[in-house]
Amino acid sequence: MKECNKQIEQICDYVDGELDSSLCRELEAHLKDCKNCRIMVDSLRQTVILCREGKPERLPGELESRLNSALKRRWKKKFGKK
Ligand SMILES: [Zn+2]
Repeated sequence: MKECNKQIEQICDYVDGELDSSLCRELEAHLKDCKNCRIMVDSLRQTVILCREGKPERLPGELESRLNSALKRRWKKKFGKK
């Protein structure tokens, strides 16, 4: 689904609990129809938990690089780190 790419940033916010409530509802509606993004939310939750514990998890190929670049942008913004 072509929409998915633009959902990634929102999925990051969503997992972080920082997504605007209206966007949150929009994303949840999308998640209902989109197995890929549900998997992404699950993987991202796991990854965030593991990262916070200092044990970064490896995700499969393309998903990992997409998530990583989205996360890096976020975390850079948030914590001012590289
Ligand atoms: Zn999707």
